[in-house]
Amino acid sequence: MKESKIKFNTKTIHGGQSPDPAYGAVMPPVYLTSTYVQSTPGGHKGYEYSRTHNPTRTALENALASIEDGARGLCFGSGMAAIDAVLKLLSPGDEVISTNDLYGGSYRLFTKVFANYGIRFHFVDMQNPEHVAEKINEKTKLIWVETPTNPMMNIVDVQAITKLSLNKEILVVVDNTFASPYLQQPLKLGADIVMHSATKYLGGHSDVVLGALVVRDESLAEQLAFIQNASGAVCGPMDAFLVLRGIKTLHVRMQRHCENGKAVAEFLSDHPKVKKVYWPGFENHPNHKVAQTQMKDFGGMLSFVPKNDTLESATSIVESLKVFTLAESLGGVESLAGHPASMTHASIPKEEREKSGVVDGLIRLSVGLEDIDDLIDDLKQAIG
Ligand SMILES: *Cc1c(COP(=O)(O)O)cnc(C)c1O
Repeated sequence: MKESKIKFNTKTIHGGQSPDPAYGAVMPPVYLTSTYVQSTPGGHKGYEYSRTHNPTRTALENALASIEDGARGLCFGSGMAAIDAVLKLLSPGDEVISTNDLYGGSYRLFTKVFANYGIRFHFVDMQNPEHVAEKINEKTKLIWVETPTNPMMNIVDVQAITKLSLNKEILVVVDNTFASPYLQQPLKLGADIVMHSATKYLGGHSDVVLGALVVRDESLAEQLAFIQNASGAVCGPMDAFLVLRGIKTLHVRMQRHCENGKAVAEFLSDHPKVKKVYWPGFENHPNHKVAQTQMKDFGGMLSFVPKNDTLESATSIVESLKVFTLAESLGGVESLAGHPASMTHASIPKEEREKSGVVDGLIRLSVGLEDIDDLIDDLKQAIG
């Protein structure tokens, strides 16, 4: 099968995969080994030590390269470890431009770790690409995009951003965790690297933590593979196996996440006790047109604020939910609810977070694959 000919849904199952050469196992075995026999010093079958390469990890890396349409995939012990590897491409004095509503863990890594090594970060409202253009200078080496953003579901125009880097030595990286490659393929929009917390939609079952990069260009992939091996933040073979298994149903899960997400968004927006719903599928979402162009559908993530926008009201709603589970993370088969102001965004001062919309009443939902009637009934009884 010619890789370039097959379509996305086929790629999730077959892309980059072939039966295991040893015994023909259709699913790649979990190679629980740290080392590999050599027939003569240096004489091996491509594998010598599992920090550098492991066949189960290779199978996952090939699958990721296929579904994101990149030259190469690279897997790490977590999403944060994948981000860390990208930042290690930089040198002191380099500058990075990113969004002002970045995933909290990325913001922490940038400002509390890499800022100490002389790398300078600018955080701007990327919904308007002009804000990015204003910060570009000869020291700019990296633009870090996230879209949709967490938890406000803002949309960044990836193509408009990648245009700004044309003919400059600036890498554009897109954190594609919220969309997954089913909805959005940033390399096709001109990005150089796609990053995933595979912990979320790619794994899809809330049973593994893993990170990934997919790189458009082989020589950049080579540099990142060097960092992957040198720093050693790799994933284990069992984790690689779980994510690979998750990817095989990605297209089917995402389709239902989108259907259920839409139904929940519409139910909430019609509810008299709901003040505001943030979901890029609404025509009045400020960047709906961009979402429509760069995404296949609008996903299963959304946030809302009850009419009574208080900590007490939000707490009472999330504690009353019975089908939705109150927990951090997202993208699993089960529906989750979170309260950003006291959970994921608790470390940001109230004034700061309210500027970007993270008010006390805001509730974030990761809409899962349960029967839609049960999800809506659950929200009905919890909102009252
Ligand atoms: C979870 C997440 C990460 C970090 O990934 P881990 O696997 O938790 O290390 C990065 N970006 C986004 C958007 C995330 O949701």
